[in-house]
Amino acid sequence: MTEPTGTPLIEGYTLGPFATNCFIVREPGLEACWIVDAGFRPEVMIERVRALGLTPSAILLTHAHADHIAGLEVVKGAFPEAPILIHAAEREWLQTPELNLSAGLGTPLVAPAADGTLEDGQKLMLGESAWRVIHTPGHSPGGVTLYCESAPIALVGDTLFAGSIGRYDFPTSDGPVLFASIREKLYTLPDATIVHPGHGPATTIGSEKGTNPYVRAEAV
Ligand SMILES: [Zn+2]
Ligand SMILES: [Zn+2]
Repeated sequence: MTEPTGTPLIEGYTLGPFATNCFIVREPGLEACWIVDAGFRPEVMIERVRALGLTPSAILLTHAHADHIAGLEVVKGAFPEAPILIHAAEREWLQTPELNLSAGLGTPLVAPAADGTLEDGQKLMLGESAWRVIHTPGHSPGGVTLYCESAPIALVGDTLFAGSIGRYDFPTSDGPVLFASIREKLYTLPDATIVHPGHGPATTIGSEKGTNPYVRAEAV
């Protein structure tokens, strides 16, 4: 049976003590897949990828906070051919515990180096599906959203949550920049866009525009 491609399937895995959502992005009938973020104890994702007979073509990082990269060494070890891609603003964070916030957790984390970078507007193909990188800084300077217009689906990292927004009290955070990212870059996506955040349940752009207590569309 040949299933149609062009329909991304998002499998979420909530990993580690910070309940970080990490994702396998795949398509019916396609051997390639992506792993998006690699939290603590990612073995369950690796086992799933292998059980499906898939080969990750990339390991994409929404940002480089420790809870999103703690499993990177294990994932990269399992799939060494898959390039690690992250926004240039946080490339060095992977090896810098003070910046990836692991220093404050008592277990300094030095993750594998990135193989390449993600830029605002960059197009990524997974099978027949076109995805776009949207730079959504504020929670962290190199935060990115991965957006598939045809679905429409957005993997937003820690920028926007169901009924909440990302923290902006870290030294490397910027509240006004975060608010601008949400209003100008996320709330301008179609209302039907399914939002998969880095923590908590999925939501939609339309729902957050109408009810998010921190950032409403009316404030534009
Ligand atoms: Zn974060
Ligand atoms: Zn997080």
